Amino acid sequence: GPLLETERFGRDYHFYASLPSTNRTAKELARQGAAEGTVVLAEEQTEGRGRLGRGWYSPPGLGIYFTVILRPAIPLGLAPQVTLLASVAVCKALETVAGVQPSIKWPNDVLLHGKKLCGTLTELNAEMEAVNYLVVGTGINVNQGPEDFPGEVAKVATSLYATTGEKVDRARLFAALLRFFEADYKHWLSAGFERLRSEWLERAAGMGTTVRVIAGQQEWIGRAEGIDSDGALLVRDGGGELRRLISGEVSLRPE
Ligand code: ATP
Repeated sequence: GPLLETERFGRDYHFYASLPSTNRTAKELARQGAAEGTVVLAEEQTEGRGRLGRGWYSPPGLGIYFTVILRPAIPLGLAPQVTLLASVAVCKALETVAGVQPSIKWPNDVLLHGKKLCGTLTELNAEMEAVNYLVVGTGINVNQGPEDFPGEVAKVATSLYATTGEKVDRARLFAALLRFFEADYKHWLSAGFERLRSEWLERAAGMGTTVRVIAGQQEWIGRAEGIDSDGALLVRDGGGELRRLISGEVSLRPE
């Protein structure tokens, strides 16, 4: 539409009133050869997912649920940076369109006043240690009222409307998001992660604080100290050793 100011992102565009999961449909389209920048958008998701198989509550009409297909020519190890760059792009769109100051909880949660506003789930398909395609799925709570979240989710979630008391035009926010996402993605491909790393750190929540690290069956407590040049989280453990954590396997909890 007239709002869209991107070159590739959202130019191939699949809109659905309802989908089980935008990532799932995007993966099917990617397998069939969909172009980089293809967007899958749904008004609701009935089986929306977060990381580690957790659910993402996606009621109709109130949020933005979409997935972008990317085909970067990169080694597998760089893929986690895409989740971080997507979180930065979401923050810039929220700052510009809604005037809020979100923070990012590593690796993928965008928070307002400590509550979850947005989550990003990146899934990848690789051949021979190189990325074939990535799907980057994002769910944002926009116009939900505080009473619109079910009990368990209500404890951790917030929306723009619940925070500011103002409804936001989802099409405008979405267009801004695709614009920032595409610009940051192009910058990343040509110039690398360094600027995005700074932009991520400027917004990082919980740096310098004590966190509980949950990696499968293992749990330990340490102090979050930043992210390195690859986007791995740096946590100093009880023995004083600095450990690098890769997103995908690890969850953090405040301690
Ligand atoms: P963490 O990064 O803290 O380990 P996580 O990775 O489990 O959390 P996600 O995978 O991003 O978090 O999201 C799934 C979780 O988010 C669910 O377990 C639920 O608690 C919460 N959640 C579900 N739907 C929503 C929503 N619409 N808004 C905010 N939070 C939600």
